[in-house]
Amino acid sequence: MSDREMVLIDRYNRRINYLRISLTDRCNLRCIYCMPPEGERKLRHKDILRYEELLRIARIAIKMGINKIRLTGGEPLVRKGVGEFIPMLASLDGLDDVSLTTNGVLLRDNLAMLKSAGITRINVSLDSLKGLNFKYITRFDYFNKVWEGIEKARDMGFSPIKLNIVIMRGINDNEVLDFGRLAIEQPFHVRFIECMPIGLQSNASAFISNAEVEKLLVDRFGPLAAVSPGKNDGPATRFRFEGGRGEIGFISAISHSFCHTCNRLRLTADGKLLPCLLSDGEVDLKGPLRRGCLDEDLIEVFLEAVNAKPQHHLLQGENQHRVHRKMCAVGG
Ligand code: SAM
Ligand code: SF4
Repeated sequence: MSDREMVLIDRYNRRINYLRISLTDRCNLRCIYCMPPEGERKLRHKDILRYEELLRIARIAIKMGINKIRLTGGEPLVRKGVGEFIPMLASLDGLDDVSLTTNGVLLRDNLAMLKSAGITRINVSLDSLKGLNFKYITRFDYFNKVWEGIEKARDMGFSPIKLNIVIMRGINDNEVLDFGRLAIEQPFHVRFIECMPIGLQSNASAFISNAEVEKLLVDRFGPLAAVSPGKNDGPATRFRFEGGRGEIGFISAISHSFCHTCNRLRLTADGKLLPCLLSDGEVDLKGPLRRGCLDEDLIEVFLEAVNAKPQHHLLQGENQHRVHRKMCAVGG
């Protein structure tokens, strides 16, 4: 039996080849747009997919045409045993790309493990370049730790290193130019993510569109030239300043839908497959898995999730609604 036997195509003719796995709902930060200060109610250990279950799911997903997996959280690097799990996952036949989204707090100590597992593409969420503002946004004083991890990753040859920034009006919009300068001086991909009305209620008034961010950048640093899309590109539109060492990316889920190119499914830490981050549907995978079902039955669950993918999310336009799931349980 070959590793890949199927291709997943949804009802709108989109090929689904990308799975994002949330390893845990737990996190060592409390970002103001993601979690309340006291944290969210935690899943029980027994409700979280075990590593052997995740590996089985990943093998089935590969058979169905998934060739890219991203690990996320909560904070993926806080999960016990992750240092053994990641190399096992990354060594599965049929995966072209395994990557990680992390808040960077534990990055430095995991770089050697990631590198030897062959993972070179990492995304680090970094909403401020100033210690005090970082502490205000994440509620923890870890800026230096995160920055040290990013610099060490750069020095060890990780590439690309993508820095994800959620710009919020009145909170870190005064740092847009500092981030722009960073993309000129350093080989980082600086990506601005529009704040999404998901989970917490408090982030709605902070929304600032990427068009506004782009104008600030262009007014200060000159024109942005488009970078041609690569095979591992997601929804970011990519640009470069003339002479810049890094890149600027915009992920504009709210102001510009990229749903027509959506190629992904998400797996939550407690084993739900989500057809769409920004809609409320989900399909239970853990239940059948723990009832001892066959691979064929799990394939049916995947197909159900793919068939349930909506044409587009509901966060745009007049009928905008708020998605009630928690970002920390889904992984962004
Ligand atoms: N803890 C890891 C991290 O922060 O990178 C991984 C999980 S986190 C939920 C994944 C991404 O979702 C982060 O880049 C974070 O900035 C983003 N995120 C969380 N809540 C968001 C929101 N309401 N709007 C936009 N992005 C959000
Ligand atoms: Fe934790 Fe990431 Fe959410 Fe921040 S965005 S609280 S780092 S899960």
